[in-house]
Amino acid sequence: MAPTQGPRAPLEFGGPLGFQALVLTALLVGLGMSAGLPLGALPEMLLPLAFVATLTAFIFSLFLYMKAQVAPVSALAPGGNSGNPIYDFFLGRELNPRICFFDFKYFCELRPGLIGWVLINLALLMKEAELRGSPSLAMWLVNGFQLLYVGDALWHEEAVLTTMDITHDGFGFMLAFGDMAWVPFTYSLQAQFLLHHPQPLGLPMASVICLINATGYYIFRGANSQKNTFRKNPSDPRVAGLETISTATGRKLLVSGWWGMVRHPNYLGDLIMALAWSLPCGVSHLLPYFYLLYFTALLVHREARDERQCLQKYGLAWQEYCRRVPYRIMPYIY
Ligand code: NDP
Repeated sequence: MAPTQGPRAPLEFGGPLGFQALVLTALLVGLGMSAGLPLGALPEMLLPLAFVATLTAFIFSLFLYMKAQVAPVSALAPGGNSGNPIYDFFLGRELNPRICFFDFKYFCELRPGLIGWVLINLALLMKEAELRGSPSLAMWLVNGFQLLYVGDALWHEEAVLTTMDITHDGFGFMLAFGDMAWVPFTYSLQAQFLLHHPQPLGLPMASVICLINATGYYIFRGANSQKNTFRKNPSDPRVAGLETISTATGRKLLVSGWWGMVRHPNYLGDLIMALAWSLPCGVSHLLPYFYLLYFTALLVHREARDERQCLQKYGLAWQEYCRRVPYRIMPYIY
């Protein structure tokens, strides 16, 4: 069943709203701190907060499930409507649940999780300053790298409209839990680790780690921007010279530039950055590498799902693309 109610950005009054939400949060937190808000106390409340976030995601998913009972069939997601209530509650029945112009999934996809993540990171940095006089270089790096990632994602928030999460997956407990609880509380694990296990980090090693993060970001942003520009306007001078394969749908596939190197160069850049976020925590413990391991598994699985959908969409043209660009994520390895 093809959903007819497609994704749509909510009204925006100048500039990316997601980024404005980040700036507004920063201003409010800054004001709160100048009025005595003890942000450094937040790390002691992480467990109860994670519990409340999970409970909120659960109650919110119940609401979404109920709402889907009265939604038109055209608004339902391709999956998540099996008739098994637990499965459907988990995967989500409605594709893009909305009330008037407010799109729940678009709002939740990036803002609560990503802003919550950098807020927890900042609280951990403040706590470290309280405990040890000043934040460590490792803590600064983790905070800086992850703030760059979050700022970038919120600046380019509209790009989320073409992702599988928005165009294919229903909005149920899986996404709601991921957006509200999983991302802020597990993605901040490196900063949490550093608070309890301070790591000495010299300038030469810090410079190497910065270089790794910059390389990852360069690939990640280059690949995502190239595809977004191409999808918006294939005649844009920045992409017009790239080699393409025509498909039966009328859309084209890039076969040179970043997308001629591997079939998911953006995942490669993301993984390189994930490595740079773990390295400031040293190599004595596995915990700071949890994100890298989990994220590798997530992206390998996501890549396989995307390949299946692209094969369905583009058929022979996709097979030709796979022949011309044989590696999925990592050149000569995978
Ligand atoms: P992608 O941005 O990788 O998009 C995949 C789609 O791109 C395909 O379905 C196809 O869609 C199009 N495409 C594929 N190959 C080509 C080509 N050669 N030429 C033109 N178009 C092509 O999808 P994701 O949503 O998975 O990832 C978006 C970003 O989000 C990535 O950078 C990823 O790393 C990141 N991410 C981060 C997560 C986190 O937790 N930190 C989680 C998930 C993703 P079509 O043809 O229909 O345009």
